[in-house]
Amino acid sequence: MHVWTHDRFRFPLPPGHRFPIDKYALLRERVVADGIAAPGEVHEPEPVAWSRIEAVHERGWIRRLRGGELSVRERRGLGLPWSPELVERGRRATAGTVLAARHALRHGVAMNLGGGTHHAGRAWGRGFCLFNDVGVALECLRADGQVERALVVDCDVHQGDGTADLLGPDPEAFTVSLHGARNYPFQRIPSDLDVDLETGMGDDGYLAALDAALDHAIGRAEADVAFYLAGADPWEGDRLGRLALTKRGLLARDELVLDRLRATGAAVCVVLAGGYADDVRDTVDINAATAAAVARRLS
Ligand SMILES: [Zn+2]
Repeated sequence: MHVWTHDRFRFPLPPGHRFPIDKYALLRERVVADGIAAPGEVHEPEPVAWSRIEAVHERGWIRRLRGGELSVRERRGLGLPWSPELVERGRRATAGTVLAARHALRHGVAMNLGGGTHHAGRAWGRGFCLFNDVGVALECLRADGQVERALVVDCDVHQGDGTADLLGPDPEAFTVSLHGARNYPFQRIPSDLDVDLETGMGDDGYLAALDAALDHAIGRAEADVAFYLAGADPWEGDRLGRLALTKRGLLARDELVLDRLRATGAAVCVVLAGGYADDVRDTVDINAATAAAVARRLS
């Protein structure tokens, strides 16, 4: 399976920072070791053009990010130290989602080993998210003339406030977010469908809520393209998650979303989003299982 990654483009982080920067290289190694992708099928995109980002994000936010001129409040909200490398990495991660989405239009399904930066809204970024990769990818596909209607299924444990900010006003896009009710972000922007999950919820409750949410969303979306944010952070061992899904439950989640979306005939683009296990290898296990589930749907 062809996949996209930006793992070699790192940025300075203080020791012990909770952003899991090592996850991306470990995941690339894992998908190759497991035979999910051949080494030649792992692609490193160039940074997405600024003009593509400008079609989605407000110019002031872009200017402050490019110039390293974020306010104290913006720096705190972003949660990552600014550097030119951080900005370049964000553009490369976004490009991976653009290319995976284009690939999905030709092959039915595709995956970026990154992206899912759903806390970036039109005029701001926060929660480790600079640019909204799904918003930029959708804009690119529309500019190509290939799609109109979109569905975003956000299964990261945190609510997709940035995506809701960008696509909420868009009548051709439907956004659904399943997330911990008492988790970040505490000030929300409503998705088209928000599903608040109680702290400690396990596999069965989660899968039932997801199935009902998909029933609601799929009929309304009538999507040409669907984006699936396969966050690893609903896992029971996640430091930031507060839910209690098992790895088996997360795989059942992936298979349910993939099969329901594929059955609509929409192209399906899968992105990583969050994952904050104490041992990064647990997050990589979950992400690799997602990648394997995507690959099985190509053959
Ligand atoms: Zn998250």
